[in-house]
Amino acid sequence: MPLTDLFAEGERIMAICNACRYCEGHCAVFPAMELRTTFPKEELAYLANLCHDCGSCYHHCQYAPPHEFAVNVPKTFKEIRERTYRDHAWPRALGAAFERNGIATALIAAASLAILAALTSVFAKAFFAPHAGAGAFYAILPHDAMIALFGAVWVYVLVAWTIGFRRFWRESGARTRIGLRDYWRATRDVLLLRYLDGGGGGCTYPGEAPSHARRVFHHLTYYGFLLCLASTTVAAIYDNYLGWRAPYPLSSAPVVLGWPSSFCSSSPARRASSSSPCARRRRWACCSPCIWASCSASS
Ligand code: SF4
Ligand code: SF4
Repeated sequence: MPLTDLFAEGERIMAICNACRYCEGHCAVFPAMELRTTFPKEELAYLANLCHDCGSCYHHCQYAPPHEFAVNVPKTFKEIRERTYRDHAWPRALGAAFERNGIATALIAAASLAILAALTSVFAKAFFAPHAGAGAFYAILPHDAMIALFGAVWVYVLVAWTIGFRRFWRESGARTRIGLRDYWRATRDVLLLRYLDGGGGGCTYPGEAPSHARRVFHHLTYYGFLLCLASTTVAAIYDNYLGWRAPYPLSSAPVVLGWPSSFCSSSPARRASSSSPCARRRRWACCSPCIWASCSASS
């Protein structure tokens, strides 16, 4: 949809929703919408980033197609949200990848496989020789190489997130000062995934009937990654400060923390948690809500 038409459509459906207000308990979008009387581009970008595409309002809407009002909040917000991702990407040139993500993913995957194949042939002896005992892992991937590789990715992600968030925050025209109480509320909403309850009954997942399955899968994925972080951190302390080299025994903290993380963040849970009803039925992408931004909307 052309840019002007997209924001005009967003403005139109928000005007209808603001008069209707039937969905005000469903998520962070509707209480934030009710604080506004006009919906210029920056307000729509903000509201669209509060939506996580659960589809709940669409399923409950008496003005959804085939009604002549044709209100479709998740579809319109998904398109606006994608535009904000592209506009706030860092470096900006990478924003184009949001529009051609199939080609970008294929090129990156091909380049990664080519690099892996080249490294495998150069270091074939180290890769395929048997290694055992303490520090065996580092015979394949040296400790310093691993730190440099993942450290660089970590720094890039942090910088890209920070710059993207600053751009988003400025564009949304945030005027309210954020206090400790707001941070606490936002953190609590993140930890409990408050807005994934679809207004109480849950999202329409895995079928048409509301259920909390998707929220549970999100929790498994989220806490699985947290356990993974805890396991890796403990292992790093063992290795760097205590001089205890991997592999660690089954009863050790890195293993005890690590194995449930593999289960929780396994691909079935990740797939389920990222597959919104909208994504499955209408091929709309599921995106994370901007929870930190939502705290100022609901405060
Ligand atoms: S999505 Fe439909 S039912 Fe919900 S507030 Fe908007 S117009 Fe009303
Ligand atoms: S989060 Fe769900 S209920 Fe809220 S606007 Fe998006 S699709 Fe509708």
